[in-house]
Amino acid sequence: MRKFNVLVNVLSNRYFCSNKSNVLVYNWKNKIKEPLNYNKILTWYICGPTVYDSMHIGHASCFIKFDIIRRILENYFHVPVFQVMNITDLDDKIISKAHAYNKNPSQIAKKYEIEFVEDLKLLNIKQPDIMARVTDFIPQILNFIQDLQEKDLVYSSDGSLFFDTTKYKRYGKLFKVPKVVKHSFKRSNLDFALWKAAKAGEPSWNSSWGPGRPGWHIECSAIASYYFGSSVDIHSGGIDLLFPHHENEEAQCCAYHKVDDWVKYWIYTGHLHIGDSIKMSKSLKNTISVKDLLKLYTANQFRTLCLLSNFKNDLEFSDNTMNVACGVLNKFDSFIMNCYTYLNTFNSNYIPDSNLLEKIDDIENNIRNSLMDNFNTSKVVNLLIELINVFNKLLTTECSFNCSKLEVIRALNLVSKTMDSFGIDLNSSQVKSDAENNFIVDITVNFREKLRKLALQSDSEISKKDILQLCDILRADLSIANIIVQDINKSSSWRYDGVTKLKAKESPHQD
Ligand SMILES: [Zn+2]
Repeated sequence: MRKFNVLVNVLSNRYFCSNKSNVLVYNWKNKIKEPLNYNKILTWYICGPTVYDSMHIGHASCFIKFDIIRRILENYFHVPVFQVMNITDLDDKIISKAHAYNKNPSQIAKKYEIEFVEDLKLLNIKQPDIMARVTDFIPQILNFIQDLQEKDLVYSSDGSLFFDTTKYKRYGKLFKVPKVVKHSFKRSNLDFALWKAAKAGEPSWNSSWGPGRPGWHIECSAIASYYFGSSVDIHSGGIDLLFPHHENEEAQCCAYHKVDDWVKYWIYTGHLHIGDSIKMSKSLKNTISVKDLLKLYTANQFRTLCLLSNFKNDLEFSDNTMNVACGVLNKFDSFIMNCYTYLNTFNSNYIPDSNLLEKIDDIENNIRNSLMDNFNTSKVVNLLIELINVFNKLLTTECSFNCSKLEVIRALNLVSKTMDSFGIDLNSSQVKSDAENNFIVDITVNFREKLRKLALQSDSEISKKDILQLCDILRADLSIANIIVQDINKSSSWRYDGVTKLKAKESPHQD
């Protein structure tokens, strides 16, 4: 198996800072927070999707949370990250869907892989450096199994090959494994398939053990070992993957590479619940797709929800929690708008206040400390709100601040740059849908028509009152499309407001 070559190429193209990030990360291997150390570049393997259906928002929240962590490491702590994700493009679910729709499994996989990449873009999730399809790694998987067989860790049964977990002494490193009980065709219920014997109508590859296809766990071990060799810094996934998937990956990789530990830091995201208790999953048939989510909320609003709790905790998706997230984002948007209005419109005679500047410094330091403490984004959001509240007390009814422009610039930069490092661009946080854009064009054209009719009435005097009345109507109409127009003296400014009022809120799609 080719090792390290890929990594060496990447190493030569990246800018390096230090090998210590000063970040503490919760490591599920030792169940404690540990300093995040790495060698020149931080290697990160993330378990990707099985491409048989549309991505639901439970999966999306997992990928967004890891995207936030990646961005914090890269943007905030200047850690060079090399991230690899697998795409499971061969699996029982893909095969059964292909049979149901009379298609090839590869056609189903391709369709949903394209959709997955589109969804990543819509959610502003950075694509991993490498996305590796399992079917492109069959030779590497075969070599990996061959090596395990030479180490006497493999047995065959029922035409398939299994990993013998009793021969790997540290099995149960991540998770207190269930009791071993008798199994019909495996030596232990904990043993897992490395190579599944071919069945009629299923894709298969030739091997020295007969035609078949890889088991699930071996794919990640083979792909990650291909890119990273005998050590991976971070390995991540949803908490469901901890056992058996990651326990099995770790067992076979430690055996293959002859190392005590293959992964340095195991990190996990919690579940996403609908309402306050029900976990979202395909098997429970209670999923909401990314596309359906984006009919109701923007990507920034959903990302803000993800920021409001620790990434490793469960997350509640409901009208209430989304209203809180939208409210937080609106507060940030309004603050940014007020800052720009003040900086561009008003002259300031204030001199900088050392107490206020010190307060901004304190909040900036606390933000850094919170991010170093296992990426505590919810605390950071609270610190930014605290900062905004300080400035809101200084805000006049004319959107001018009772302080110097220096302080406003510092606060504006701290809020916008911190949120930017989480993947939220506050300057364009409200993306309008086509329906809303059409509505805006309609009301603007109607307004013009009314103004024109007024002008054509040559026999009547057009009064100032008539025109101002039309302007008020337009402002009221625009607010329906969430565009809030504010008149300041003779000039006007505008901003987007929270959740759309245009469409009646539909109940979440369930299938
Ligand atoms: Zn995996």
